Formats: sequence, C-alpha cells, structure tokens
Amino acid sequence: MSGGGKHLVVVGTGVAGFRTAQVARQSGWVGDITIVGDQHHLPYDLPPLSKQVLQGIWDSSRSALVTADELAALCIEYIAADPAERLGIAAGTVVLRSGLRLTYDALVIATGASATSWPGAEGVHTLRTLDDAERLRDHLAGARDVVVIGSGFVAAEVAATVSSAWSATVHLVCRGDGPCHRSIGAPAARWLRTVHEANGVVVHAGCSAQSVEKLDGLRHEVTLDDGTRIEADVVVAGLGAAPNIGWLRGSGVPIDGGILTDDVGTVLGAATDRPIYAVGDCAQWQWQGRREPRGQHWTRATEQARAVGGLLGSGEAGDEKKPLPYVWSDQFGAKLQIIGDIDQRDDVARVTSTATTFLSVHAKDGVVMGVVVAGQPRLAIQLRRMVREAADLKTVLDAVPPVPTA
Ligand SMILES: Cc1cc2nc3c(=O)[nH]c(=O)nc-3n(C[C@H](O)[C@H](O)[C@H](O)COP(=O)(O)OP(=O)(O)OC[C@H]3O[C@@H](n4cnc5c(N)ncnc54)[C@H](O)[C@@H]3O)c2cc1C
Repeated sequence: MSGGGKHLVVVGTGVAGFRTAQVARQSGWVGDITIVGDQHHLPYDLPPLSKQVLQGIWDSSRSALVTADELAALCIEYIAADPAERLGIAAGTVVLRSGLRLTYDALVIATGASATSWPGAEGVHTLRTLDDAERLRDHLAGARDVVVIGSGFVAAEVAATVSSAWSATVHLVCRGDGPCHRSIGAPAARWLRTVHEANGVVVHAGCSAQSVEKLDGLRHEVTLDDGTRIEADVVVAGLGAAPNIGWLRGSGVPIDGGILTDDVGTVLGAATDRPIYAVGDCAQWQWQGRREPRGQHWTRATEQARAVGGLLGSGEAGDEKKPLPYVWSDQFGAKLQIIGDIDQRDDVARVTSTATTFLSVHAKDGVVMGVVVAGQPRLAIQLRRMVREAADLKTVLDAVPPVPTA
C-alpha cells in the first residue's frame, strides 16, 4: 500500500493514462488520484475507432474504457475538457487551461499523440479521436469516392472498413509494395495488397499523394506522383502521429522524439521526491540503457501503464521483461499480428499464404527476430511465445506448417 495522504495526478485519459490510474488504485495507492483530459468524453480506447465505430456497428459509447460509476467506485476524480498547459517541476504543479492548479506528489504524463494533418487542405480528415471518427462516419454517408492516403495501419484499416461497410469506391495511396509495408515487410505488404484488391479497394502502391485540391462543396482532387488524378467526396490522411508534448516545453522534462524515461518509465532527470513517469504514445522508454522505438501501439501502452501503475500502487517495480513488440490489425476479417521486430534488412526465412491466411518468418544470424501472421490465431499464440524466448530459426521453422493452417 502506498500514497497515503498523497496526490497522484495523471495527465491524459487514453488507455495509457486511465489504466495507470486504475492499476495504481487496484494495487494499493490509497491517496487521491486525479486524471486530467482535454476531451469531453469519458476515457476511451482508440482501436475500435477505425473498426467497429467507423463501420457503424458500435455506438461510440462502446469504446469507453470505464463508466462514470466505475470511476467513482475507484475514487478517481476525472477532470474533462481542461487541458494541462504548464508543468512546474520545482513546485510540483500542473496548471490547466481553466487556471486550475493541481499539486502532485507523483505525476504520470500520458498525453498520447495527435494525427499529422495534410498540410493546408481544408476538409481532409484524420483519425485519432472519437470526434474524428464520428465526423468521418457522418461524411461517409452517401460518399461515392473515398481516397485514403497513408502507408500505416490506420490508413489501411480505414480503407478496409470503408470498403467493407460503405458503398463508396475506395482508393488507398501507399508507398512500397502494399499497405503497411514498413511495419510488416514486403512479402506481407504484397499479400495484403491482394486482399485489399480482392475486396474492391483500388490500391495505388508505390505512390504518394502530391497535392489535394479543394473543388466545389466537399469534393477534392488528389494528384499522385505518377500523375494519376482522383476526385473524391471524402479524403482521409493517415500520415502518422506526433507526440503531444508541446505543453511541456520549458518545463525541464527531457524530450527527444518523445518523453525520455528509464526502464521503468521514470522521466529522466525528474526530481525523485515527486516522481514523474511517462507512458504510452508520448513516451520514449529505454530498455537496459538503450532507447526502445517509441511504442505507438496498444499493447506497449498498456504494458507501460501496468508497470507504472503497479509501481505506484505497491511501491515495488514489477519483474519487467524485455518488451516484445506486438501489434494487431483487423482488415477484411483477418487479424494481422506482427510479433517482434520486422526489419527490411533481415532474411525472410519462410513465406506461406492463401487468399485469407499469411505467414512470414524474419530472421537474423539464425535467430527469429519477428513474424507476421494473418488469419491463424493459434499459430500466432505459439509463435509469440517462441519469439519472446528468442527461439532459433530451425525450431521455429520446424514448428510452423509448410502450408498454412486455417
Ligand atoms: C484509429 C486507431 C486505431 C488503432 N488500432 C490499433 C490496433 O488495432 N492495434 C494496436 O496495437 N494499436 C492500435 N492503435 C494504436 C493504439 O491505440 C495507441 O498506441 C494507444 O491507444 C495509445 O494510447 P495513449 O493513451 O498513449 O494515447 P491516446 O489514446 O492518444 O491518449 C492520450 C490522451 O491524452 C489527451 N491529451 C493530450 N494532450 C493533453 C493535455 N495537454 N492535457 C490533457 N489531456 C491531453 C488526448 O486528448 C488523449 O485523450 C490505434 C490507434 C488509432 C488512432
């Protein structure tokens, strides 16, 4: 039990911020807990936004991580729609836009990231927040042509969801051999391209958008670098996201791409009598003194929340294992799972695929570094364990079937 008479302030109410507060309370923090958000919604989860919410099969409220009653039961005070604007480390204070000044004994920064906008084009959608998802969903009604620009998971999921659930013709403009190529490697990107095309998406692979011009009404014209011009009722830019760290400038919190922390999430150089942690998409953790790539995926955000919440609640650091990158993505009914590191320079030791299943095994110096699996959930569980244990290539290849299992 810890935190008696003390105040834990968590800035940011996404999965990383909310789960940190929840785990801290459940593992023994007995002092006050306040979570501060800049949106008017209850804490909510992002993955459903590009899937069930955009598809229209979930009411937006189903993406909530917690109800008001559950927050009250956890004795967590929730301040909504009042962004943190200043951090005073010496005084241990966070000042909100309303002027409210919160004094903390421990602070968790979990402000996530914001979608990168298409420069200068009015009416081009991005997808990061619940309001973004609702706005995009409203504009999709009656749309005939939709262009999605982007080579990452959010762009590919938006293209897949819109193509499955709405009557529009969907164009996906992405670099490389196919959707998500940097995160999943060329073989998987080529396979994913065939899946999108089989489901009616027009994939402009190896292309980038050069300009987006506003025409009449809501229509835009998108020009690609190969000269192709596409008119669209709805344009979505999935260009990645940048960490929300502007409010920390001048505070002394070390920032380099994200908020720099040690192996357990403690912000480097922060005063130890009032510890400051950073978790989720805004944080740049390290592992054994070396920087991890900034997460930007749900599993890492929740692992960090569990670690920091547990440390705050129990006063003891958990038995942190080397983080294993893990991302899933749902596109056209197939769950794509990326386990470990997919580096384009590594060997691709095996590729198998059918119309609905895929596997690639990526290795370096005889050790499996990562795998990409689609449509084979049991195999994915087995491979996740093997990659975590740094299994050698032969052991993994012996375990995976030469032809995919459905
Ligand atoms: C549409 C979408 C779909 C995704 N799907 C998947 C998936 O299928 N699989 C997967 O592995 N990952 C997925 N991800 C990534 C994953 O959801 C994120 O990595 C994770 O949710 C990050 O959580 P977070 O709490 O760090 O950030 P966020 O969810 O961004 O939360 C940060 C919160 O802080 C608030 N905030 C910002 N600045 C301030 C301030 N100054 N004061 C107060 N509050 C502030 C923000 O408004 C936000 O509510 C998806 C992401 C998106 C956008």
